[in-house]
Amino acid sequence: MTPNRAVSDDIRARLFPFPARHLTTVLDLKPPHVTALLDLADAFVELNRQTAKTLDLLKGRTLVNLFFENSTRTQSSFELAGKRLGADVVNMNPRTSSVAKGETLIDTAVTLNAMKPDLLVVRHAGSGAPDLLARKVSGSVVNAGDGQHEHPTQALLDMLSMRRAFGDVGNLTVAICGDVAHSRVARSNVALLTMMGANVRLVGPPTLMPPAVDRWGVEVHHDMRKGIEGADVVMMLRLQLERMDGAFVPSMREYFRFWGLDHEKLKHAKPGAKVMHPGPMNRGVEIDSDVADDPAVSLIQDQVEMGVAVRMAVLASLAERLEQEAGR
Ligand code: ASP
Repeated sequence: MTPNRAVSDDIRARLFPFPARHLTTVLDLKPPHVTALLDLADAFVELNRQTAKTLDLLKGRTLVNLFFENSTRTQSSFELAGKRLGADVVNMNPRTSSVAKGETLIDTAVTLNAMKPDLLVVRHAGSGAPDLLARKVSGSVVNAGDGQHEHPTQALLDMLSMRRAFGDVGNLTVAICGDVAHSRVARSNVALLTMMGANVRLVGPPTLMPPAVDRWGVEVHHDMRKGIEGADVVMMLRLQLERMDGAFVPSMREYFRFWGLDHEKLKHAKPGAKVMHPGPMNRGVEIDSDVADDPAVSLIQDQVEMGVAVRMAVLASLAERLEQEAGR
């Protein structure tokens, strides 16, 4: 079964070579690239909603998913994205591979490189690990989350979800709330949203703000209701207990009372405001199920859908770049 001709023609017309060999930070992109990527991703959303969802743009290419940290949605999202574009996809599990036997990241990279993957999708607890790999391999590296540093495809999929809900993101006020200190999602979103002209606020307790937050160039609020006042988007972050060394919050109940998003607090945002969360959610800690599951306000399911489309756009565009480099 082949996809609708108009949809696949639209995708081919929007393809462009990625501006860099790798995607390790959103700072690899400039506003016109972001717009072009999101336009391409929009076309992939159409493809994904058809019964026939596969194209051959990555035919013959090998994509390796190398996830040193747990992941459900990101790994399966990249896997689906690669498969829908016709790539051969391999999921490496470093926990059961030689990495668990003490092989270093560099050894792993050199070994993998000998198998000639074209696209290497990496998640690692160490900030900067994908950049290190990028220097050692000949294909393209995509950062799927490195420590507390960046998660570029998450910020892109968040922006696509906002753009589809509101139109232009440049007019939006986005409040990013909760555990900012440990969040790579917050870092990538602040960088991408400010690049595209949105007004960004960080909202949370002082203990969960990064040390140099005053240099991030965005408003910081320590009162939830004030922080989300008039916001178009309230983006909740997971309390990242696995990254906390010691107690940053008195108790989960206390945290929910002051920082958990429920319908009462949401009333302070702009009428028509939307709620986002990158997942996985701690229900009843940073977000109430009544809000998370309310289709009138929640974009959380859209974020998951947009994730596959954005990753298809990134992979297709990186492959165009590889093609172009090989032709030179
Ligand atoms: N899934 C996102 C990440 O990998 C957010 C989270 O884990 O809270 O950073």
